Amino acid sequence: MSKSLPMSEGVFTDIESLRSLLDAVPHPIFIKDDQTRWVVVNEMMCQLMNRGYDDLVGQFDEAFFPREQIDVFRSNDLHVLATGEINENEELFSDGDGRLRTIVTRKKRVLLTNGVRLLVGCITDISDFRCAEALIRHHADHDALTGLANRRSFRNRIEEHSARANRSSSGFAILLVDLDDFKPVNDIYGHAAGDSVLCEVSRRLEKVVRKGDTVARLGGDEFAIAAETKRSPATEASRLASRVIAAIRKPIMVGEVSIEVGASIGIAKSSVDGNTAEGLLHAADLAMYRGKHEGRGTYRFFSPEMDIEVREQIALETEFRKAVAGGEIQPYYQPLISLVDNQLLGFEILARWHHSERGLIPPDMFIPLAEKLGLISGLSLSLLRRAGEDAKTWPDHLRLSLNISPFQLSDPTLPIALIGVLNEVGFPPGRLEVEITESALVSDLSSAKAILTSFQNLGIRVALDDFGTGYSSLHHLRELRFDTIKIDRSFVQSIRTNPESEMIVNAILGLARNLGISATAEGIENTDVLQHMTDGGAKVGQGYYFGKATPASDVPSVIQRIRGKQSHGNTG
Ligand code: C2E
Ligand code: CA
Ligand code: CA
Repeated sequence: MSKSLPMSEGVFTDIESLRSLLDAVPHPIFIKDDQTRWVVVNEMMCQLMNRGYDDLVGQFDEAFFPREQIDVFRSNDLHVLATGEINENEELFSDGDGRLRTIVTRKKRVLLTNGVRLLVGCITDISDFRCAEALIRHHADHDALTGLANRRSFRNRIEEHSARANRSSSGFAILLVDLDDFKPVNDIYGHAAGDSVLCEVSRRLEKVVRKGDTVARLGGDEFAIAAETKRSPATEASRLASRVIAAIRKPIMVGEVSIEVGASIGIAKSSVDGNTAEGLLHAADLAMYRGKHEGRGTYRFFSPEMDIEVREQIALETEFRKAVAGGEIQPYYQPLISLVDNQLLGFEILARWHHSERGLIPPDMFIPLAEKLGLISGLSLSLLRRAGEDAKTWPDHLRLSLNISPFQLSDPTLPIALIGVLNEVGFPPGRLEVEITESALVSDLSSAKAILTSFQNLGIRVALDDFGTGYSSLHHLRELRFDTIKIDRSFVQSIRTNPESEMIVNAILGLARNLGISATAEGIENTDVLQHMTDGGAKVGQGYYFGKATPASDVPSVIQRIRGKQSHGNTG
């Protein structure tokens, strides 16, 4: 059957030479890497597939060939390629300076190239493929990247599971698995790395399911499992979900980098949550959506009220997009007061959404939405622009404080964008402070540091917001030279009733003093608390005692009132 390989020199310097070597083999051959993607295919393979070389390289083999139709390592020709006349572990091909080395071991018949495991497959009997139809069908039913069932065939598989369940009085569960934090993988490491992660995730999913269960890739970073359940569907499905989460959470090595993703899972149970493939997938989708909202890396079972909530959420998102585009999100202003001389120092900009039916919507409701929808940066800039306009009529020593969401701190263009807005409205950078929370520093301290430093270089002050609630790390305070620490209102408010709060507030005030950072006490609602904060050395105060956040139209009267209070002495 075979024509022996041209092993003249046994040397090739790159993939191209290997390719031309394989072109001489009269059988379709592919070499795949450990991600089971084709690295090299020969001329015969291209002919068989009726596709160009560049089209095929990079593809996942099983997108085309069911495993049973590939005679991996068994062809005579391949045997020559794989073992030749040489001894185990002997080098077959190598370049002069060892850049690309191919080793073949007799036992494992694995080619090693530059330390990458390459598997060699050879299609020995083309007559197996006489049914090109089967090939095409396979392609249509499988995801080209991972080789898993695709959405279309998954639906069919659900119907099959359903029929089987009816016959055997067993049941099945649909697990919708959505990766957490996958998008940054593509953004940071590129699409090839993203693809490798998806392939590895599919392999892990296939490992954790039982025989007979179906794993599919529905698209993007969304996977699904149809798993048979017997006596206790809920328990069995939760166990599987926990196994999936644990399997995906383990770091994935792509080349030299270790990448971590997680998974959120929604579960729907057959016959309870739906009878059709569509219904079950929808239910699992809603449950997954809920899981994402309540904290990632978990699983949720579908319950009927999710349907209503999600519809509302989607409606809210649509309205919110419109509101942002239509400038319906307005800046409100809450006074910041000097505790040294009771003077008005400026205002914190707090976003408010005036909704025609729902009324005034607080930022805790829509800021997360803005973050999720990628609208937060635009929103911040538009709030700052409007605040800068509003401030034109105020006394020109007054400062503005702008809240910056952690998401924005991964954008190195942020400082320039803010300066651009300030220039546009003629508001000096020295009168602006940005407020960030500590959570923004945790994921990537060095890039946060770079951005915060450029703020300060541009003359913008930087405040650490809500201090005491999150990590409260001394390291962060040392690493970044904050101009202000804002003590979270929860401690300030309970200072008289909770001894622990008192200790924390005193500790933060001490820390600020030692580091030479100004401390702002948030949430001052009465004179008692005010007195305590003043005695403790807080330099700036904020809270309902001085005034709530108000629209621009009320600011002049707020300025008047505070002036009045100041001249009458601060008695509340
Ligand atoms: P924050 O930055 O800690 O803002 C202070 C919050 O405390 C404000 O709530 C304010 O109204 C409230 N507050 C002030 N004084 C008192 C007081 O004496 N007692 C009580 N009980 N509460 C007081 P608000 O306006 O609802 O804002 C909530 C959070 O939403 C803000 O917390 C901030 O994290 C976020 N936020 C608001 N506007 C923006 C924005 O434009 N961008 C971003 N990224 N976040 C914003
Ligand atoms: Ca704030
Ligand atoms: Ca705060």
